[in-house]
Amino acid sequence: MSVSVFISEDQIKQRIKALAAQINQDFKGQELTVITVLNGSFMFSADLVREIKDIPIIMEFISASSYGSETQSSGEVKLEINFQSDLKDKNVLIVEDIVDTGLTLNKLMHILKIYKPKTVKLASLISKPANTVHFVSNIDYLGFEIEDKFVVGYGLDFAGQYRHLPYIGVYEPKK
Ligand code: IMP
Repeated sequence: MSVSVFISEDQIKQRIKALAAQINQDFKGQELTVITVLNGSFMFSADLVREIKDIPIIMEFISASSYGSETQSSGEVKLEINFQSDLKDKNVLIVEDIVDTGLTLNKLMHILKIYKPKTVKLASLISKPANTVHFVSNIDYLGFEIEDKFVVGYGLDFAGQYRHLPYIGVYEPKK
């Protein structure tokens, strides 16, 4: 079992700076409510918001968990939502770790409509378009598009491990 570096710490930093610059520009003079989808996006979201310096931000958190094997989604997702602020007429930015099958975001987008936000934009660290089978609207701020690989680190886990790594690595079970 080993993890090899796939996207380095420096590459991640550079990409986040570019995404944040775009967000700063797009929301100039407005407020933003950032919804961090835990657990996987905790590190990405923390680094991203620290670069969004020009906009007042309210932070919200939801918890998403999918059932299945350790590297494959089962097609079921559980969302735990308990917003502390009112999203009505707000500009919302969802911050996700990975758009894989798209199920999590598809479900979240449907639920968010109930809260009547003014706009909903999406930031994702990674997209795996080859796996995406559920409808997900455009990813407005995308870190990296990758092929079908199971990745860990920078918030992403395998069986609860590796989330702390500062880089994105490829998990190789047997080597
Ligand atoms: P979905 O299939 O798009 O709903 O993605 C569900 C969740 O599975 C993501 O938010 C991640 O937390 C997790 N996931 C998908 N692919 C990977 C991976 O390569 N490594 C670690 N977690 C992943």
